Order: sequence, then C-alpha cells, then structure tokens
Amino acid sequence: MSDHYVKVSIQLEEMKSFGEDAEKEGVDTEEQVPVCSPSASVSPPDPSSTTIAGRDASNTSITCKHRGKSRSKLGKDDKNSCGKHTSDVSLHGSVVSAHVGRNLNRLTHDRTLHVKGTGKILQGKSETNGNNVTVHPSKNIQETRREDGFKHARKGRPVTVDISKAKTSLEALKLSIKQLKWKEFPLGRRAACDIYWHGVSFHDNDNIVSGQVNKFPGMIEMLRKINLSRAVRTMQELFPEEYDFYPRSWILPEECQQFSTQIRMVKENDATINPTFIVKPDGGSQGDGIYLIRDPSDLKLMVGTQAKQAVVQEYIQRPLLIDKLKFDIRLYVLLKSLEPLEIYIAKEGLTRFCTEPYQEPSQKNLSHVFMHLTNYSLNVHSGNFVHSDSQSTGSKRTLSSVLYRLAAKGVDIKKVWSDIIALVIKTAIAVVPELRVYYQCDIPPGKPGPTCFQILGFDILLTKNLKPVLLEVNSNPSMRIEHEQEVAPGVFEYVPSPVDEEVKVGVIRDTLRLMDPATARKSPDEGALPSLCLKQVYPKYTKQFNYLRLVERIASLFIRFLGVKGNMRMGPTAFRTFIRTCKLSNSNFSMASVDILYIDITRRWSGTMPDSREAGMGLQAFVEAFFYLAGRRFKSLVLREQVVSLLQLCEAQLESQSGVEERRSVSCSRAMPRAVRTLGLTNPQLNSPAPLRRASSQDYRLHQRLKPRTLRANVEN
Ligand code: ADP
Repeated sequence: MSDHYVKVSIQLEEMKSFGEDAEKEGVDTEEQVPVCSPSASVSPPDPSSTTIAGRDASNTSITCKHRGKSRSKLGKDDKNSCGKHTSDVSLHGSVVSAHVGRNLNRLTHDRTLHVKGTGKILQGKSETNGNNVTVHPSKNIQETRREDGFKHARKGRPVTVDISKAKTSLEALKLSIKQLKWKEFPLGRRAACDIYWHGVSFHDNDNIVSGQVNKFPGMIEMLRKINLSRAVRTMQELFPEEYDFYPRSWILPEECQQFSTQIRMVKENDATINPTFIVKPDGGSQGDGIYLIRDPSDLKLMVGTQAKQAVVQEYIQRPLLIDKLKFDIRLYVLLKSLEPLEIYIAKEGLTRFCTEPYQEPSQKNLSHVFMHLTNYSLNVHSGNFVHSDSQSTGSKRTLSSVLYRLAAKGVDIKKVWSDIIALVIKTAIAVVPELRVYYQCDIPPGKPGPTCFQILGFDILLTKNLKPVLLEVNSNPSMRIEHEQEVAPGVFEYVPSPVDEEVKVGVIRDTLRLMDPATARKSPDEGALPSLCLKQVYPKYTKQFNYLRLVERIASLFIRFLGVKGNMRMGPTAFRTFIRTCKLSNSNFSMASVDILYIDITRRWSGTMPDSREAGMGLQAFVEAFFYLAGRRFKSLVLREQVVSLLQLCEAQLESQSGVEERRSVSCSRAMPRAVRTLGLTNPQLNSPAPLRRASSQDYRLHQRLKPRTLRANVEN
C-alpha cells in the first residue's frame, strides 16, 4: 500500500468515526461539526440576487420512460446553444463554518413544564440562549408509548417482526432478521408483533395498537416535492443563510406568474447569463415526468384540462464530476423519533452515476436524460450502464469509494461530510413540525397505538465547489438488493447486486438493532455483529442546531389549540381561542380583524392544498398567520426576531396561565379523592380550559374529518 493510499485511508477512517470519540467521551463537538450561527445576519431572500438570466428558448423536454416504453429525445433544434452559463451562485452565498463558543450566554437549568390540553408533562433540561426557551423532554408521549411496549417485549424470546407488508424491501429485511436471529412473520400474526415493517406507508396495516411501525403517518405527504419545498421555504424565510442548500424553487401552478416575472426581471438585468430550470411533477419519482427548460414559456402547465402540480427549480449547472460523469449521493437517514427528535445517518451510502459524459446545459442537450438525470431507473436502460461487481466502479458505487477518490485528489472530505450532516439535520428540522401534526392526528395522545421510526433516502448533489445541495427526500427509498439483468437476448432475471446488498442490509439491520425493544435503554448488543453503521447526529448536535427549531414551537401552539383529537386543521373558534388565550388582540387588532385574518389565510391555503383532509386552517397557514401577527406586533425587528418575540410572549402567557390553573386545581383537589386528582393530570380534556373545550366540540361539528386519499408519492419501490 503506498504512503499516499495509507494517508487517504486514515482520512476516510477519521471521517467515518467523525464525532464518535466525542460521543463516547461526552466531549463538546462544536469545533468539529458545522455550526449554524444563531447570530448570522437575517435578510429576506432577494429574488433578484439570483444570478439567473438568459435568452428565449424553444420548448424542449425530456421524456423519462421505463422498460417496455419507448424512450425518445424530444428536444427541438437549438436556438441559443452558445449562451453563457451561470454558476450556481445562489448556492454559494454562504459557507457553513465552525464557530466555537457562540453560545456563551446560554444557561442550562432543570425545568418542568406542564403542557396543558395534551396531558404531557415535560421534564428535563431546558436551554435558554437569550432567544428562546426550549424544553428537551426527558420523557414524552412517544417515549412513554415505547416504554409501555417494552413492558410487553420479549423476555428471552426473539424479537418478532411482521414482514407481510414489506414489499420490495423483503429480501434485505429477511437477511437482516436472519443476521439478528429474530423471528419473521411472512404472513403477519394474530398476536401483536414487536415490529411491523411496511413497504409503503404507516397505513399499510391498519389497527396496530402496540409495537413499532417503520413508517410515520404523513411522511409520504410531507415529502412530496411541493410540501418539502414549502417547508424548506418557510425555514429560508427565517434563516436564509442556513437553508441555502436547497435550490430556489417555485410551486406550480400557483407561482407560475411569479416565476415568469422574476426570471424576466433577472434576464433584463443581465442578458449574458443563461439559466436552466428543472421541472418535477409533485408526486413523481424515478425521474418520471421531469424535464429541463430555459425559459418560463416552456413550462407545460396542463395535463388535459387539469393544471399540473409541480415544482420548477433552479438547475445546478456545475455539478462535481467523476470520470466526466454527473452523479448524486443517496444517503440513508433514520428518523428514530419525533419527540424527542432523534436522527441517525448511515455512514455508508450509494452514488448513482449518469451514463453519458456531462456537458453544461444547452438548448441542444436539454433532453439528454443520461447526461442530466442520475436516476438508476433511467440510466439502467442506457447501453453504457455498468452493473457494479466491485464497490468502486460501475454506475452505482458506494459513497465511501467516491470519497476515497476525492480524498486522493486532496478534497477535504471531512468538511464535505460535516456539511452533509448539517443539511440532513436542517432538513429534518424543516419537516418535523408538520409531521408532529400528522402524528397526533393518527395516534392521538391517550389512544393506544404504535410508535414510529422511518428510514429516509436523501438525494444530494455536490456542486463543483463541493457544496452539498438537497435534491429531494424519499419517504420510501428503494431497498431492493437485486437488479434486473438481461441474461440472454430478451430474457431478464433478477440477480443479486453486491453494492446494494452491502449498503442496504446494513442500514435495515442496524435500524432494527436500534429499535430493538430490549436494547432501547442500552447500546445494541454487539455480539458477532459488525459495529453499527448508523451514527447519531441528533440530539448529539443539539447545541448547534436547536435554535433553528422555531416552527416546531409554532406547531406546539397549533397542536395545543387544535382541540379535537385526530384533527389536523384549526377551526375559527380555536383560532380565536388561541388569540384570546395568548392575549394577542387589542384595540388596534380587534377580534373582527382576527376573524378576517383567519378567513383570508384559510381561503388562500385551501385553494393550494388539493390533498387536504379537512376544511380549516392547516399548520402552514397557521405559520403564515403567526408570521403576520409577529410582524404587526414587533414591527422594528427582522422576521426571525419577530417570530422569536411572539413565541416567547405566547409561551409566557400559557405558562403563567397553566400556573394559575395548577394552583386552582391543587386547591380544588384537596377535597378530591386521589384517583380523580391523578386523572386530572393525565386527561387533556379535563385539564383544558373550558372555552377550549367548547371550541373543540363546535369545531368538531364544523370540520368533519374526511378519509385520507391514497397518494402517489416519492416511492421508489
Ligand atoms: P425523482 O424523485 O423523480 O427522482 P429528483 O428530484 O430526485 O426526482 O430528480 C431526479 C434527478 O434529476 C436527480 O437525481 C438529479 O440527477 C437531477 N436533478 C434534480 N434536481 C436537480 C437540480 N436542481 N439541479 C440539477 N440536477 C437535478
């Protein structure tokens, strides 16, 4: 082994064990991980600052079809093939850098917080950093449920897994269960299992009342391209620099006009820059229906008579290339729990390569699927596709092999990896608030139900400047470990794919180890098994990222005032109750204005949410209303500070009122039998203030819940 190779190996090993030592030793890792500076300057995103401009172009599209369908290039003749290209400047605006000792004014002290109306008693350490008070609950509903499950968990018997709904992850799952010496139930089981493995959604098996399910309710909906873009955009409004890893996106059809106007303005300012955009259908996956355009007039807005739901996004024109090919990274991330937030990242991932050498987009090559799209499902149909028998060659390679290559070229892969970790944590922070709303809707506190965890597939592109860019998050990343191969002319067979097997079996096996009910309180039994391939990144890096969790605090208010169990939308009465309870109305902002605000925002949002389950105000609309209220109240501040100030105000109101309620209930309870007192603490209905209860029953009549629709979404299976 050459010296150089030894150095590279050491560097990669360091990268792999990144944070491991710190975790073991309880060392503050602020110096090692990317830190998002809470003191970063805040300014609203300026559309005109994007360096996107260009010339007119004819309508060009890429058709992405699968086996059995014809694949054709539909690109028209090039009208403007020699335009200058923009670099992905808007993504280079800021570099996430390490800040040590940023949180000097942070105080830590023990707190107990009663969250009324939810029956939750949060106990644990809270951090005050001048901006916000966040409670890290030491125990909450999800944990309590999990512990209840553990009581019934095995004593000396193997963990039981219902694999009847595993679909295409079945092979990898079976191998994992075998390695763990657990017991699988291929046809399901009459008695309860410890773990239910679903191939698609939380609802694959209905009526599960205990154990753990490998899907969260609402994850499919949340990670559709439009919803993800919306969630990230909300965070971009609050933290533009921290969330610059997601390309500028517009939602179609509603922002079509805005998109056209902004691009026209940019082009008028600088005619030398030639932008490209990628259009992705909302529920699409595997490259289906994706096409590139260079001018807003090339958008295809209709399918028959219906407006297409899609996202149009700034195209990253200068990706990092290896062997002249564009590639992307598939990273597996385990969302182990929402409350408390627990995130693990797989140390090994996959890279998927294009099969045609990359050229920056021009009118001529816009329709070249094999050059621009890295999807395996598309490139496998190219004559150039190479099935990998080793991990470092071919069209699908391990992430570590690519990082070796980069390290060998002198790339600081530690920095790349820590930027990737930051991207994952920030993305999770963006989607968790709405997931919490779905969760309490499907598994309301007090109702028997399972706990959830989920493996997600993050698709990440590295720019030429090594900045990770988030392309999308898959709620159901393909866990297939075999691929189709033509073994004789016209004869196709499934053959094992060593690269997929290496990565995916490890991810599933170690997810199961982490979810093993018997080892929940200690580290998984190593035994003969390899060390865990999943690294905890949250709560490990709480200190660096916790300040970003503002929308989650808004979601907590939202959930608290939703009122009716199983509701996802807030009715007008509950919204009024929120305003009254938090004392947000006054002579300048009457209750009549509150009603108008409610109607105005709710009406606008209901037009943009075709999949909505119910009428009323959803979380995203509530967040908009909250931003508006914050802006009215704290005019002189920037948005982020406005929101922090209003949150503090609301939380303080609720805390002071819960103090009054508690004192009242203590004085009343002196006369009550013990059993009734205990019930009062755990039953949200008994604990909630009377007006809230009234609101709840009225809203319930007003907002009849509809059955969730089956959604086509980013499912790769
Ligand atoms: P799908 O769910 O259909 O796979 P993606 O968002 O993953 O949709 O996009 C498909 C492919 O298109 C990606 O794997 C990547 O190669 C390419 N791609 C997507 N978005 C961008 C972008 N903004 N810039 C450059 N390439 C992109």
